[in-house]
Amino acid sequence: MTGIVVLGSTNMDLVAYVPRAPARGETVTGRAFRTVPGGKGANQAVAAARAGGEVAMIGAVGTDDFGVRLRAVLEHSGVDTDLLRTAEGPSGTAHIVVDDEGGNAIVVVPGANGSVTSLSHGDEALIATAGLLLLQLELPLSAVTEGAAHARAAGVRTVLTPAPARPLPPELLAATDLLVPNEHEAAALTGRTDPHAAARALLDAVPEVVVTLGAAGCLYAARGAAPLAVPAPRVRAVDTTAAGDTFAGVLAVALAEGRPVPEALARAGTAAALSVRREGASTSMPYRAEIEAALA
Ligand code: ATP
Repeated sequence: MTGIVVLGSTNMDLVAYVPRAPARGETVTGRAFRTVPGGKGANQAVAAARAGGEVAMIGAVGTDDFGVRLRAVLEHSGVDTDLLRTAEGPSGTAHIVVDDEGGNAIVVVPGANGSVTSLSHGDEALIATAGLLLLQLELPLSAVTEGAAHARAAGVRTVLTPAPARPLPPELLAATDLLVPNEHEAAALTGRTDPHAAARALLDAVPEVVVTLGAAGCLYAARGAAPLAVPAPRVRAVDTTAAGDTFAGVLAVALAEGRPVPEALARAGTAAALSVRREGASTSMPYRAEIEAALA
């Protein structure tokens, strides 16, 4: 099987653009407002589908209008949503205030994502037939750990983006084949700010690690092999939102297609670089033909 199952979050990002963020008790007038469908799970699912993967998503949206839109965005991208639940109550939301200096403050309310505390028999059956399971940390850890353990038991490769950063249960690490932190998450997990040192430390817990390094590309490390640094293509960055999710989604497709790791990393880095050249989160993610044209 080459199919990819994403066990992860859906969120509607509610973004207000303000000259400066309000202090406690203060009201400021914003300049603009946007709603942007996102959530790390949904973003990775869209990136993988655009890159040519056969993708199914397990998670939950709410019974509000946001839920309808979040589901529609996934379906429009070709993601199978048969096992995406609709949970009574609001969808997940991220309330983001962006100031004129580009700084931001964010409140995430998990909403429906918080209802995914365990897997159904249908979820387990789907995971068992997947080529690869893609996970992040925006669903309850109980479900993420259960999903990874189930994939491991079925011999399905697991790829985990440990974001947002938090301590990981040993059972989750034990069921993770490839961990893909950014450099801040790698440092938070290990206490080492040097990416090489962090990657080496993480290899005590998982067999393979990719630390993403923004414009500097990424660092791949595997037990018993020399580390591999993969530079990112040089581009003029317009909006790096969801670069990490594009990288993870495209990496998953390339690995599920059986490509060797160096080639898979090159495809992921090329796709992420294409996404930072354009405004937007999922809307900026490249399609397979664009990725292949950029690699040629
Ligand atoms: P984000 O939170 O913005 O989605 P992240 O912090 O999870 O991203 P990064 O390490 O910043 O992850 O970026 C992921 C990958 O995206 C990098 O490994 C790189 O391949 C690519 N990338 C990010 N920023 C740039 C850039 N300015 N130019 C080229 N490639 C980039």
